[in-house]
Amino acid sequence: MAVLTNRQGCLASAEPKDQRKVRGMPQDKLSIAIIGAGIGGLAAAATLQLFGVNVQVYEQATQFGRVGAGIQMMPNSMKVLRGIGVEAKLREAAFAPKSHLNRIGDTGEVTNELAMPEERFGAPYLCLHRATLHSALAGAIPAERLHLGHKLAELEHHDGYIEMEFDNGVRTQADAVVGADGVHSVTRNIILGSEQRLYNRGRVAYRAVFPASLLGSLDLGNSRTKWWGADRHVVIYYTSPARDEVYFVTSVPEPLEWMTPESWSTTGDMAVLRQAYGDFHEDVRAVLDACPSCHKWAILERDPLPRWSDGRVVLLGDACHPMTPYMAQGAATSIEDAAILARCLAEVDSGGVEGAFHRYEAHRKPRTSRIQAISSANTWMQNTEPDTDWLYGYDAWNVPLSETGRN
Ligand SMILES: Cc1cc2nc3c(=O)[nH]c(=O)nc-3n(C[C@H](O)[C@H](O)[C@H](O)COP(=O)(O)OP(=O)(O)OC[C@H]3O[C@@H](n4cnc5c(N)ncnc54)[C@H](O)[C@@H]3O)c2cc1C
Repeated sequence: MAVLTNRQGCLASAEPKDQRKVRGMPQDKLSIAIIGAGIGGLAAAATLQLFGVNVQVYEQATQFGRVGAGIQMMPNSMKVLRGIGVEAKLREAAFAPKSHLNRIGDTGEVTNELAMPEERFGAPYLCLHRATLHSALAGAIPAERLHLGHKLAELEHHDGYIEMEFDNGVRTQADAVVGADGVHSVTRNIILGSEQRLYNRGRVAYRAVFPASLLGSLDLGNSRTKWWGADRHVVIYYTSPARDEVYFVTSVPEPLEWMTPESWSTTGDMAVLRQAYGDFHEDVRAVLDACPSCHKWAILERDPLPRWSDGRVVLLGDACHPMTPYMAQGAATSIEDAAILARCLAEVDSGGVEGAFHRYEAHRKPRTSRIQAISSANTWMQNTEPDTDWLYGYDAWNVPLSETGRN
């Protein structure tokens, strides 16, 4: 079934609604519980509800905060976000860089520039505050479907449904469960065991968002710039259309022992950070000098998992394909997952859930495994322009899906 977007940017089916009923599209027949209200989980809730699925989202946090982090949304994920109906909101709040600019860390020499005009990949390239994206997605879901303070503890498979138990004592059921609970996924551990290796290669991301006014007269230009050193890099961009907010994110060596569970609360030492980039270009040093404080984050990755589902439980986003942030595709691929998962579930009832999950995995895994590998190598766009059409040109709403997945 072809899926189109209407003038308001919302998803519209190429088929009239009554015909979809005939084809067996679940009109509130299927109930899906999503574990985790991160970017992937919220995107999945939004795409599934477009197809009439009864979605409930369970999130361990008791509230959402606005911790300083930017995020790049590439055209491949923007197409999905357009279908969800949040594109206009994001455009209003984001900086739209004209290109990916790659420069040598100390000399500033430009090694490669990829122009990102909207016409090229069929959607804009936006840089924005992560919390803006998160709240736009949360706003796409009725509040009563979002259950904060629910940390998944256990899952039980029953004939035709899954029962969940949360740390707060709540027990509930759904036809199927989507584990979108991030790189330390409990859902993944329950369905696959905890032996999948988590790689900490001894690198950390320092990141901060701060007022651009602190930069004085320094103008960061109209691009998103990645400054490449021998064993470290830093990416810098504005996160607002007025260019009044600036963000940077690093990848820098750190003793292997340092590792936190994923956390938005660990602060970095600005003096250590400034020293680590002491021989970088004056513009980089000026940004770090101006920054009042930052957070620090271990960069973690895993090999592709042997499988993404077990019966009526499936994984999505970082839970099944965590990757380094070097291609800015972690959230983007989670958002793509959301559209493909919804398309696979769109034409099944409760009895067809397992087959739909296999089909979703069969379609998604080759692509996400490829991105994981390239992202891990951290050479994307460093010196030459790679083929980018397969990545940014991808349209999860309309890409053909094979009929079946694994049996
Ligand atoms: C430094 C850095 C920069 C990045 N920059 C970009 C970028 O520019 N562009 C991009 O596309 N990607 C980027 N990423 C990747 C991106 O942040 C992740 O890939 C994305 O957030 C994954 O979304 P997710 O929903 O799968 O997981 P998460 O965002 O981690 O969300 C998981 C959610 O599940 C909840 N949860 C966990 N366990 C439980 C439980 N037991 N019960 C209930 N809830 C639970 C968590 O509280 C959380 O809300 C970056 C990552 C890093 C580290």
